[in-house]
Amino acid sequence: MIELPETYVLADQINRTLIGKTIRSAVANAHPHAFAWYTGNPAGYNAKLAGKKITGSNPGTGYTCGGNTEIVCGDMLIVLSTPVKYHAPGEKLPKSHQLLLAFDDGSHMTCTVQMWGAMFCFPADENGIPEGYSVKKSPTPYEDAFDKAYFGGLRRGLKPNLSVKAFLATEQRIPGFGNGVLHDVLWNARIHPKRRLEALTDNDMEALFDSVKSTLAEMRDGGGRDTEKDLFNRKGGYRTVLSSKTLPYPCRACGGGLKREAYLGGNIYFCPSCQPL
Ligand SMILES: [Zn+2]
Repeated sequence: MIELPETYVLADQINRTLIGKTIRSAVANAHPHAFAWYTGNPAGYNAKLAGKKITGSNPGTGYTCGGNTEIVCGDMLIVLSTPVKYHAPGEKLPKSHQLLLAFDDGSHMTCTVQMWGAMFCFPADENGIPEGYSVKKSPTPYEDAFDKAYFGGLRRGLKPNLSVKAFLATEQRIPGFGNGVLHDVLWNARIHPKRRLEALTDNDMEALFDSVKSTLAEMRDGGGRDTEKDLFNRKGGYRTVLSSKTLPYPCRACGGGLKREAYLGGNIYFCPSCQPL
């Protein structure tokens, strides 16, 4: 899954790079992948997309689940949960790809699945909304509607023994918030990923809210995290505090050792002294 900050970066780059290009041909499933998902038969993608012009791109926070990049091309909407790459005319294409768009100017766009990925293609109405789609729009932390009251409301009705990681990064309670952005958000709030919701004080909830807002903004404004690559295959400019890259180094706040543990389908990274359990 592409996470929230990177979908904003990708959509912005697509808007600046691909708008106005016409799709000459589309090839889906050229290198079959067990966990690549399409809408209908991938062999039909060329008929759906050839001749369409790219008219816009949105971070997938609207009418499809978070963690997607949406590309509007005329009356079709492409929804991608995979990395997306741009290749200028004459540039080499990746060896393996699950979606390839060739444009009229000789440039290309490719999607290559990592682990799993969706490359959906729907007929869309004049607002770019897929026909028959009725997913409720949830505000993202980048929107004013995602305020303290809204954040507090997400917690209502949840089991008090639920961990903070389960609260933030599962069930798409916050669209596009996944296990990648989690670590720095919790480090900035000085909260251990396994802390239970019932053990959070009002001050903790406040710190958590502030960190969700500010950490995600820093990641987006930095061009994405340095563990991820953008449309041009460049690493993001946001320096992760906690990731596989930083694990060998001391904590930036206290100088102590960082820790990695497997927890709830994925690794958690934390500083045991800054984020005591
Ligand atoms: Zn520390």
